[in-house]
Amino acid sequence: MIFLRAFIRNLRSDLLNMGKSIDFFHRFKFYINMVTSNCLLKNEIWLPNMTTLTFLQRRLSKRISKGSNKLFIPLLFMILSQYSSLGQSKMEISSNFPGGNIKVDKIDKDTVWMSPDLRDTEGYWFYWYFKITGMAGKTVHFQFPQKPVFGRYGPAYSINNDSTWKWYGETSYANHGFTFSFSKGDTSAYFSIAFPYTQKNLYDFLGKLRNRGSLKLDTLCFSRENRAVEQIHIMPAQKTLYKVLITARNHACEMTTDYVLEGIIRSILNERDLQFLRDHVEFCIVPFVDKDGVENGDQGKWRKPHDYNRDYDNNSIYPIVKAIKAKVPEWSDGKLKIVLDLHCPYLRGDGDAEYICFIGNKNKAIQQQQLIMSDLVAKNCNDELRFYGKNFMKYGTLWNTDKNYTQGASCSQWGTTIPGIALSTTLEFPYANASGIAVSKDNARMFGGSMAYSIQDYLPSLAK
Ligand SMILES: [Zn+2]
Repeated sequence: MIFLRAFIRNLRSDLLNMGKSIDFFHRFKFYINMVTSNCLLKNEIWLPNMTTLTFLQRRLSKRISKGSNKLFIPLLFMILSQYSSLGQSKMEISSNFPGGNIKVDKIDKDTVWMSPDLRDTEGYWFYWYFKITGMAGKTVHFQFPQKPVFGRYGPAYSINNDSTWKWYGETSYANHGFTFSFSKGDTSAYFSIAFPYTQKNLYDFLGKLRNRGSLKLDTLCFSRENRAVEQIHIMPAQKTLYKVLITARNHACEMTTDYVLEGIIRSILNERDLQFLRDHVEFCIVPFVDKDGVENGDQGKWRKPHDYNRDYDNNSIYPIVKAIKAKVPEWSDGKLKIVLDLHCPYLRGDGDAEYICFIGNKNKAIQQQQLIMSDLVAKNCNDELRFYGKNFMKYGTLWNTDKNYTQGASCSQWGTTIPGIALSTTLEFPYANASGIAVSKDNARMFGGSMAYSIQDYLPSLAK
């Protein structure tokens, strides 16, 4: 109390006397302002303004050398109090970045109650992806409602930047919540259901890609929110014998499919044994069908009035689906043989959620071709993640029935209507667990390589 009185008295007298030194007064005023206004506490952890601190230190040392410690005491108090409060900066949760999604219901001390932001979803879906700051040195508990929010390996996270992601682990969560201890150096962290993938990831990937001379990136169309929707063409070196269409993110949140897509593209361009694809097959790839949903961090699945993967009937409502339907039949010129639409299944549980799975088409001839492709993938898939031929969901089994398509046709159902098509298929690739193996960016890419080999094996068989 005595110290506080001395502090106020000294501060008052120094402020009155400081009028002679305008420059110093302004800097001091700025410092007071900075300390009290909270303006630097928003979004990022508060960091000392080094210019101000260096200036104050110089001033202090001059005053000390003159024998005056009147200003020293209050300033030292303020500086120390700021340093000591570094680890207690205000904790903030945000989702205002590409792919971000969270609804914060309440923050009480070091516990955060949160839930997936459903937006225009009909019913419940589980996608979330948030950033936390102001948590250095704290142990924070994150609590979700009593609904599925984690895959087998718990939340995925990335500390201090959003490029290196890990699974928190199978034992990291309980009762729809998890607790995380941050070190004092942790200034920000990201958490999500799996490893996020947005436009930025695509451009990073394309920028580092080797042998991309045959790859052309351009704009298929513009989305409802005026974003450019990418289309990638890989042009063959010789006569085009076949064409292949690959689409991803008809459901915005199904992020791991784009790592599979990276593996397909990288293998086509670089694998020595895929020369036939480079010589004779043209690929058209749409990495983000629901581009707005991907960037906005929407669930995408069960979007009202219907989602992108139920928009392939005659009366499509989304500009991107309209553009795909307008372009592809003409581009095909009778050579389009495969439509491959990539999806992620449910987050976890029985059914198809935790293994790689082909979804059988209602059209029996097409389903027969899917079974042929499925055998090839099982044969070629020798890396970490395996596909097993038994994981083929025939039409009429589990959820794959007429009832599932009452809102409209899916992308792969539309694919069967293109003249000359041989195979149109949905492939489900898990978020987290593929038959007991944790999905990673790398093993998802390797699985993409196996898909490329399977496409090469499949296409020439059509000529027989
Ligand atoms: Zn899907």
